[in-house]
Formats: sequence, C-alpha cells, structure tokens
Amino acid sequence: MKKRRAVFLDRDGTIVVHKPYLSSPNQLELLPNASDGIRLFKKHGYLIVVITNQSGIARGFFDEDRLMHIHKKLMDMLEEAGAVIDDLYYCPHHIEGIIEHYKVDCTCRKPKPGMILDAARKHHIDLAQSLIIGDSETDMLAGKNAGCRCVLIKNGCGSASKDKIIPMDMDYVVKDLLEAARIFTQ
Ligand SMILES: [Mg+2]
Ligand SMILES: [Zn+2]
Repeated sequence: MKKRRAVFLDRDGTIVVHKPYLSSPNQLELLPNASDGIRLFKKHGYLIVVITNQSGIARGFFDEDRLMHIHKKLMDMLEEAGAVIDDLYYCPHHIEGIIEHYKVDCTCRKPKPGMILDAARKHHIDLAQSLIIGDSETDMLAGKNAGCRCVLIKNGCGSASKDKIIPMDMDYVVKDLLEAARIFTQ
C-alpha cells in the first residue's frame, strides 16, 4: 500500500485560540484561516491528524468525558466550515498530575513523538513526507523526533509570541494554517 502524506496539527494556538486549560466546548474559537488551511491541505490529499497535549486531565481540571465533548464540538465547527479532520490524538498525562491514573511519564506527551508514531502506524503515513504545524517549541521538537518537517505558527499565542521567536528548530515560519497550506500545495 502506498504511504500517505499527513499534516499533524496542534490544537491550541494552531486551530483554536489558546485558552489555558480550555475546559468547555463554549470556549472553542477557531483561529482566522484555520478551516481554510485545513480544507486546502485536504484538497491536495493530505491526511489531517490533530495531536494535542491535554495535561488538564492529569491535573484534575477536567475529565476525558468532558474532553470528548470539546473535541466533538471542534469537529462539528470545522466540518461546518468544510474542513474534515481524519483523526485526533490527545495526551491526558502529566508526571506532576494529581490524578493517579494519569500521573505517568508517558511516551505520548509532546515533545515525545508517541502520538505521531501511533497515527503513522494506523494510517500508513510517510513521516518524511509529512508536516507538523504548531505554535510552540514542543510541537517542533515532537515533529523532529518523529522525522517530520516542522512549521511554526507565529500568531502571538505560543512560545513564538510577539515579535520574538525563541531559538528553536523549525523549517518554516508562517502566520496561520492557510499560509502553511499555500506553501505545501503549490
Ligand atoms: Mg499550541
Ligand atoms: Zn501521554
């Protein structure tokens, strides 16, 4: 079977406005051009996979059931805009969490590449032909650790806030998902 190209997308600060430990579907707010960018990638055959660290679960701020509702609403909002997500992975863990079950040093929390590698196995993804797009250094490191090309979104939400970019290893810097999609679908 021919392997597919994928775009791995961070959630907070990349698809939706970053709100610390977002814990209600009502807090979801799509970033400008996010759905247009996803649509353009899809049109060119990229698989779209969301990968998000959600340590709020380990920290006891919300549970997995609540996160399901948030992600269902996110999918619905994107689908309404014609942007379909193929799969979504989240890491609920944190080594300093307070919920025993999630208080582990896992292999999925970015910058570790666990979520990307799981998705690659499940969907037959060619990682060298794939991208990770995110707004923080942990995203770029996760991408490097998985062997993907790394695209940093510099929109003032993440570590690349305001006018400075902290030194990190990225291949491209863009302002939003649509700009990223334009670069990789020319
Ligand atoms: Mg982010
Ligand atoms: Zn994890």
